[in-house]
Amino acid sequence: LNVPSRPIIPFIEGDGIGLDITPAMHRVVNAAVEKAYRGERAIAWMEVFAGEKACAVYGQDQWLPAETMQTLQDYVVSIKGPLTTPVGGGIRSLNVTMRQDLDLYVCLRPVRYFQGTPSPVNDPELVDMVIFRENSEDIYAGIEWRAGSPEAKKLIEFLQQEMGVSSIRFPETSGIGIKPVSSEGTKRLVRRAIQYAITNNRVSVTLVHKGNIMKFTEGAFRDWGYELAETEFADQVFTWRQYERIRKDEGRAAADTAMAAAEDAGRIIIKDVIADNFLQQILLRPAEYDVVATLNLNGDYISDALAAEVGGIGIAPGANLSDTVAIFEATHGTAPDIAGQGRANPGSIILSAEMMLRHLGWDEAADLIIKGVNGAIEARTVTYDFARQMEDAT
Ligand code: NAD
Repeated sequence: LNVPSRPIIPFIEGDGIGLDITPAMHRVVNAAVEKAYRGERAIAWMEVFAGEKACAVYGQDQWLPAETMQTLQDYVVSIKGPLTTPVGGGIRSLNVTMRQDLDLYVCLRPVRYFQGTPSPVNDPELVDMVIFRENSEDIYAGIEWRAGSPEAKKLIEFLQQEMGVSSIRFPETSGIGIKPVSSEGTKRLVRRAIQYAITNNRVSVTLVHKGNIMKFTEGAFRDWGYELAETEFADQVFTWRQYERIRKDEGRAAADTAMAAAEDAGRIIIKDVIADNFLQQILLRPAEYDVVATLNLNGDYISDALAAEVGGIGIAPGANLSDTVAIFEATHGTAPDIAGQGRANPGSIILSAEMMLRHLGWDEAADLIIKGVNGAIEARTVTYDFARQMEDAT
């Protein structure tokens, strides 16, 4: 990125606790940038509107104004607080709309542990993963029909009569959802995960899937992932699939030697694991996993399960990325139960801003934010979500 010394960064304040946490994030980022660059760099924040505030500014039902979408596209890097999902009226979730309209196909969720954070597991410091969740396909794409609707009935008829699907497994009372997973969609996601692993000196990329059951979607994700790794990154990776081939042709000793040589040469190891097993493994052996690439629905479960190991959604940062645009965001919702009470944890959006600073190449300021978060948690200067867990633990 070609970043000027005073980049304009659009921000969406967000609804509910967005009003509490976004101003806190601004103060932290401004202070870190000021301290790191002594006035030679600064962020020019530009507010853009979405959610309830957009309806107040632009008029009724203007949840996501075209002007906002255009600005997010034009300015390339932005940050947002959580947005209320409008109830009824056929309006899609604002986040899903943004992801689809801007083709933000990567949901990036780093999961790291800050010393002193309350955790339900014994060795939370072993958790250090970066999740690349595919954001545009899968059963999550929202292609589904209500049971008994004419569309569902028509599909059932087609499946039974034309495709030979048995009637026992398809009663008329079935709701139906479609799970599209494409080679293009998979490869662009896995490519980003491997590039990230290379740039950030990570040791492995794990493809997480349910390919044992869903062969042509999740199984294909695994196969396309390996294929991409072996063709586009031939000199930089070593895959479990290559290991298996050598083992079959030349025996286990030769395969082990090839794996050891690849590790010594600093190649990224590409492996795969079935999703349900992965959810066990992150509790039992989290140190074995590093960068993770997975499909949309698996990624949703995995991100929150991992976040719970290192302090919960109040401190879980994230970003949604296209080939050009990056929107950093707090991963939790608007928390209406605690909004406006000064109780919300600003950690999630502050650490999202930390990711944003690294994306801009402003690592010195990002490092200061990490230092600050570390210091606050160690000193137990924490919000109620952490305090509650810390009390339970002592
Ligand atoms: P939520 O994430 O808002 O809240 C779940 C629980 O976590 C609540 O008990 C809340 O108090 C707590 N919590 C969340 N963030 C916290 C923080 N920073 N500090 C301390 N505690 C925190 O989920 P919800 O209640 O299911 O959803 C509320 C609204 O947010 C809905 O309108 C939903 O559609 C929307 N939502 C938006 C996003 C987004 O914009 N990215 C994501 C999820 C939900």
